[in-house]
Amino acid sequence: MVSPIRLRVPSISLSNSEDDLTDQREMLSERHLRLAADELAAFFARIHPHLAGQPLRLREKDARAILEMLGLRPIQNEESIAVPSPQDCLEQLLEVIARINLDSDANSPARTICTPRPDGITDWERGDHIGKGSFASVYKGYSKEHKLFFAAKGVSLSDHRRICHLENEIAILKPLDHENIIQFYGTLKDGEMLYIFIELVSHGTLQQAYKNFCFKESQVSDYTRQILLGLKYLHSCKVVHGDVKCANILVTESGRVKLADFGLSKSMEDHSQSSKLGLGSSFWMAPDVANRKRVGYGFPSDIWSLGCTVTEMSTRKYPQYNASNAVSLDRAIRSGKGPIVPDYLSDTLKDFINQCLQPDPYQRPTAADLLAHRFVNESSCPQPDLTELLFETR
Ligand code: ATP
Repeated sequence: MVSPIRLRVPSISLSNSEDDLTDQREMLSERHLRLAADELAAFFARIHPHLAGQPLRLREKDARAILEMLGLRPIQNEESIAVPSPQDCLEQLLEVIARINLDSDANSPARTICTPRPDGITDWERGDHIGKGSFASVYKGYSKEHKLFFAAKGVSLSDHRRICHLENEIAILKPLDHENIIQFYGTLKDGEMLYIFIELVSHGTLQQAYKNFCFKESQVSDYTRQILLGLKYLHSCKVVHGDVKCANILVTESGRVKLADFGLSKSMEDHSQSSKLGLGSSFWMAPDVANRKRVGYGFPSDIWSLGCTVTEMSTRKYPQYNASNAVSLDRAIRSGKGPIVPDYLSDTLKDFINQCLQPDPYQRPTAADLLAHRFVNESSCPQPDLTELLFETR
């Protein structure tokens, strides 16, 4: 049996002043951290048995960094100040660790521990309307039982076409579990509506982000790497997204991106499905999909759309084609020449895009191949080592 690691939290003098909210919050935060420490020790012993028995000490600077990451500060624009319970604190702490270290390992024990799914949301309140696509309306939702904010995407039960679309999204999203894919929480028929409950991502889409901010190439590289991690996982689950573009990628305030909108997705294992589904958006559409008689939807068509998405992020515009009207645009998309890749982009970035935009789908690299490309490797931050970030061996 692995003996638990002993963690030492630096002794902190706790304020008794209940009046001062700042002190109170500070006190609760530190206490939660102490409570989390024992659990963390057991957790580490499980995933890092080679560290068992070593006396480890939490550096104060790192404790502060963790508290900041956990958001243990007043939440802006909320009526009351939220202080997480010790259990919430621990789960968030584990999640931070998992994010930092186990990013690409979808099956790590940390992920199972740190991303508990709410069990059947039935009692919920619908809040503000936060988005509208061509199929569904999206609202903020809150479950008192689970103390959880989420996004509720709903369509009217009387609209058969939209119900098919949402049911497809539910079936596809339900079994998926990856950091770069929007998390499924549940589904509910409520009144006249069918809802899918998903993780709430408050910073909007990548399209909204590039309209507001000019991305540096290193940011485009970071987002692309994350999209590739999501696609690699998705394709390993035999699912084609079918509509990869900036408007279908959500971005969190810490810069994590998540593939969303799985209404046009297709499981390559469900052969009954294809006839019911529509096509993706034309500017991002692979020639193999646009020319319906050819190969059609497949993993390579997502890679083509990724190439268009990276062009979109880099130029802050929809993919542009040499076409002056709808007919010539249609011809350009079918021809396989792809959108215009501006010359001012770096050679590495242009090479990445051109790899994705190979006209022959069989020549296109896979998401796993592309993760080895210089463009997503060179500027990506080195992943900090777990023990270095959090602990210091005495
Ligand atoms: P489409 O027309 O692309 O098929 P749709 O009707 O399926 O769209 P979505 O694109 O999924 O709907 O959502 C519409 C908008 O709602 C998004 O552009 C985004 O602004 C917002 N939205 C969707 N999901 C979330 C979420 N999980 N968190 C926050 N906002 C979201």
